[in-house]
Amino acid sequence: ETVRVDTQDRSYDVTVGPDALQGLERLLADADRVAVIADEKVTALHGEHLRAALGGNRKDVAWLDVPAGESCKTLEWFGRTQQFLLDAGCTRKSVLIAFGGGACGDLAGYAAAAYMRGIRFIQCPSTILAHDSSVGGKTAINLPGGKNMTGAFHQPIAVLYDTNLLRTLPEGEVRSGMAEAVKHVLISSREDALELLRTLELDEMGEEELIRLIVRGIRVKAEIVGRDEREGSVRKFLNFGHTYGHAVEAAAGYGGITHGEAVMIGMVYALILSEQQAGAARELTDTLQAFAERNGYPLKKIADYPFGKLLGYMKKDKKASFGDLHFVLLPEAGAPDVRSVTEEDCEKADRELRIRMG
Ligand code: NAD
Ligand code: ZN
Repeated sequence: ETVRVDTQDRSYDVTVGPDALQGLERLLADADRVAVIADEKVTALHGEHLRAALGGNRKDVAWLDVPAGESCKTLEWFGRTQQFLLDAGCTRKSVLIAFGGGACGDLAGYAAAAYMRGIRFIQCPSTILAHDSSVGGKTAINLPGGKNMTGAFHQPIAVLYDTNLLRTLPEGEVRSGMAEAVKHVLISSREDALELLRTLELDEMGEEELIRLIVRGIRVKAEIVGRDEREGSVRKFLNFGHTYGHAVEAAAGYGGITHGEAVMIGMVYALILSEQQAGAARELTDTLQAFAERNGYPLKKIADYPFGKLLGYMKKDKKASFGDLHFVLLPEAGAPDVRSVTEEDCEKADRELRIRMG
């Protein structure tokens, strides 16, 4: 299955399915060199698969393994990627391949954006969450004390989403990625959001259902990014659940809770805020909460993070301009809306969240 992404910078295809990596060799035909930046765990599990897809006898492939997950998104590793590309003899005619989850994709994408002021790159994502992160051209690494604080917009020339890679994902990562898939349904669909939340069981999900949800998420993301590549307007809707979710992640020190698990808590919070500030019906909130509880999302962890701490992080969020707190609310499923909310109203929703999770 293929989804087209049209942005002002470029148009490209996201190919999803078992063996999507088979499309690589053709895409690399005119590359003078190929550089791979890979999550070390993904190399250990699936490196041979990628090597085979590159065309067994290419001699001009350089490979850099980076630390698994978030720990690669540092200035130090960014520096190493630049030196790696230079040492490998990469030029503007070379192509960089990102092989891993969202973290590796963010690092490798930024590496491609910066090296020689920008070379082509291909996303080969290996997590469910990366259906989100690999599409849309946002790349970044973290600064000490500031997540995603330096980065660039740099669109890939293609995304090859090989769903065979997803078979080795641990349960927590499935939950994390599916939170973003649920987000994409909630912000885009008036019709079947409730129905989906009532019936979806992550541990019974078959491969076809998984692919269907991933493709659906990619379509939503592609459509929004196509209308607003640089987050001037509708791209903000993708931050649904993220203002509060990011604060939870930060309060947890980016450990002990995955991005998607934190976003799930943030989405329940945003729906409570939507009830209180925008007259949303409670039914959607309750249905999302029940979905999350049934599927093992750690909602009760919120007790570890006092509101004052979360508020501090929310105010520091780079999207909170001039101290105003902005939230994506959902007056109804499929109808997101950005509103500014006072600290008092934030706290009121926070109190209600803690009561309902208790
Ligand atoms: P991740 O990249 O940190 O990977 C999570 C863990 O899963 C790691 O330990 C990794 O080694 C392992 N893993 C990856 N693929 C695997 C596989 N196939 N089998 C077994 N283990 C595997 O996590 P993620 O959730 O994919 O990405 C999170 C990152 O994405 C964050 O840094 C976040 O900031 C970023 N992000 C970026 C965007 C964007 O638009 N650029 C959007 C959302 C999130
Ligand atoms: Zn996210």
